[in-house]
Amino acid sequence: MGMADKDEQQPLHVLFLPFLIPGHLIPVADMAALFAARGVRCTILTTPVNAAVIRAAVDRANAALRGGTGGGPAIDVAVVPFPDVGLPPGVESGTALRSEDDRGKFVLAIQRMREPFDRFLAEHRVDAVVADGFFTWSVDAAAEHGVPRLVFLGTSVFARSCNESMVRNNPVEACPDDDPDAVVSLPGLPHRVELRRSQMVDPKKRPDHWVYYKTMYDADQRSYGELFNSFHELEPEYVEHYRTALGRRTWLIGPAAVASKDVAARGTSELSPDADACLRWLDAKPDGSVVYVSFGTLSSFSPAEIRELARGLDLSGKNFVWVISGADTTTDAPDWMPESFAGLISPRGERGLTIRGWAPQMLILNHPAVGGFVTHCGWNSTLEAVSAGVPMVTWPRYADQFYNEKLIADVLKVGVGVGARDFASNTEIHRAIGGEVIAEAIGRVMGDGAEGVAIREKARELGVKARGAPEKGGSSYDDVGRLIDELMARRSSDDVRDGNSR
Ligand code: UDP
Repeated sequence: MGMADKDEQQPLHVLFLPFLIPGHLIPVADMAALFAARGVRCTILTTPVNAAVIRAAVDRANAALRGGTGGGPAIDVAVVPFPDVGLPPGVESGTALRSEDDRGKFVLAIQRMREPFDRFLAEHRVDAVVADGFFTWSVDAAAEHGVPRLVFLGTSVFARSCNESMVRNNPVEACPDDDPDAVVSLPGLPHRVELRRSQMVDPKKRPDHWVYYKTMYDADQRSYGELFNSFHELEPEYVEHYRTALGRRTWLIGPAAVASKDVAARGTSELSPDADACLRWLDAKPDGSVVYVSFGTLSSFSPAEIRELARGLDLSGKNFVWVISGADTTTDAPDWMPESFAGLISPRGERGLTIRGWAPQMLILNHPAVGGFVTHCGWNSTLEAVSAGVPMVTWPRYADQFYNEKLIADVLKVGVGVGARDFASNTEIHRAIGGEVIAEAIGRVMGDGAEGVAIREKARELGVKARGAPEKGGSSYDDVGRLIDELMARRSSDDVRDGNSR
């Protein structure tokens, strides 16, 4: 038996390098589970604190697959020390950064992750790497080891297409004046996509962001292709655009979360102590009566914004579950809560609950009592809502979130916006949105009006498609298969070219 024959019997080995924030780690663990279920050996390279984020999902996937692939776990987490850049011990995640100085050090650590990545590639045979777009150096590192690099950014094809148009055309710069409300069009997309100037990165105000976007864009162009946690039926025109007009090799393999949909502690090693009580509380509420409010792992709000949100939940008249994340210290202040609000959440949560810490979001979104989701439009949250058939009230803050809002509200029509206008990080000012406006948006999505009925029906239909995509015969199942076949074929041709020497 020649080396090539032997090689062909070895499972494919894919190395994943997720960015060091939960919103990128979680989908990578879920995607690895999808590949592992198809016989691929997966290694996720990350640091100790970040490994803890995905441990429950990985253990569960390995337990489900045990025996399937012979020796060793199907998914391995290669834990490497966090680079020594002067951050305090345990600060290894984008969620733990508290100052600009911390942020600078974190960026340096992201550069220094190249060293353990290089070492892994030197010591192991790997057929492909799936590296986060933020690790721009990974395209060169992978090339040096002769391994194809697939980029993954944890967002929609729609958002990537919008970003591509923005980076290529820079329409903000061409905008004639400094009017933050000026309408900016993104050229060359399948739909007419327009944002306010204030909803976009301003290359003049954030030259650092702009330079980084350009560097990422360049690295992505030179990559083998791109992996998406999305599915074809969700954004078919954009898949076509990305593949054909932009000529990018693209695989959509999601929603990956279905692989770990009933893991309560998904994305954490410390589930909120409020989690059990919350799920029991939901059990007692009528179907579709509860609005779930959560803004992911990185967003925080000013006291003024928080007060208006609390008023909005009150005015909406709906039951609610509101997750107050670890990133949000605003509510540590004693006076954040409007007086009337205290009565809603105590003594036993007649109208609502607040959850401190990590919520079991997948279980909540899939609970029949939940009928709407106030979200910052992080892509994972968006896709989880889509998969659960839950309509959204959109409240984007920054990153890809304003694009995702466009997809949700204007293209898919499964949500209504609160009218967020400011693309701004946590340390910058967001104008507060009035409680009345928030309540109105909730009412439009969850109320009895014709608009709400249509939105809910659309969300329900999309949920069915979402859950089918990764199933056998679904579009995402097929894309996983296509990629595996391609990588296998590539390995055989490499072996021939290398004279079977590897
Ligand atoms: N998440 C969760 N519980 C929480 C907060 C977040 O399970 O209390 C999960 C959520 O389900 C999603 C991810 O964390 O999978 C957040 O990713 P997303 O892209 O929505 O937002 P980001 O945090 O990256 O802004």
